[in-house]
Amino acid sequence: MKSEIGKLATDLKNFIKSSDEDDLVFCSGKNNLTQVKDNKPSQAEFTGKNATDCADKAVVMEQLASQINSCARCDLGATRIKAVPGEGNINAKLMFIGEGPGYEEDRQGRPFVGKAGQLLDKIIAAMGFAREEVFIANMVKCHPMIDASDPDKRGNDRAPNFDEIAVCRRYIEQQINTILPDYVVALGGVAAKSLIMEAASLSSIRGKIYDLRLSAVELKKPVKIIATFHPAALLRNPGWKKDAWTDLKVLLAAMGRAPAPRQ
Ligand code: SF4
Repeated sequence: MKSEIGKLATDLKNFIKSSDEDDLVFCSGKNNLTQVKDNKPSQAEFTGKNATDCADKAVVMEQLASQINSCARCDLGATRIKAVPGEGNINAKLMFIGEGPGYEEDRQGRPFVGKAGQLLDKIIAAMGFAREEVFIANMVKCHPMIDASDPDKRGNDRAPNFDEIAVCRRYIEQQINTILPDYVVALGGVAAKSLIMEAASLSSIRGKIYDLRLSAVELKKPVKIIATFHPAALLRNPGWKKDAWTDLKVLLAAMGRAPAPRQ
């Protein structure tokens, strides 16, 4: 079993490394952004330096968003209405990462704006943050649908599959490595398994703090990650809210923060 897991991890790393590196956004020097032509720096311009070497994180984040908005690397790009790069404070100490956009997000091009998003807003507020203080994104940037021929159908959302995540994760990894938050919250099993432990169940890894390790880029500074339930799962199973709050209190304690006072 261990060797199978190891092989899976190696296959994933090789797959990502073997993918084109020419759309990774990097800096050519401390205060100079790599020249980007058609949103694609050439291999010669690929310096291996990290986005956090840049003076202007906002420009890097905009470049990433621009690449995401025109991306067609996987089939989801052909059926999306709008890509959803993510939004929030690019200097955030805290990032929330879900699995992928749903019906509303596909239409608005913004993450977590449906019913699950409204619950996430309440969770963020209960933690003592404003939505604008954190950064919110997803593992994949385009809407995965059960029936891609009918994008107007409600209840047509599905979780992204392994291949879609493998192709798209370059974007979320570069976003993390640009923002460099202190903590990431993986919302739901897909994000938790993708970012913490592929072979584990959400129930076995949630509520514990791990060191985040990325596949496509090397983190410039240590980032911690904790997993809890996806807000959509909490809407389907309100009884899990108490457990989710227990997970998030572990995070708040690690951050040295207290929950917002009860209204
Ligand atoms: S899901 Fe990601 S990889 Fe696929 S088309 Fe959208 S941005 Fe590109």
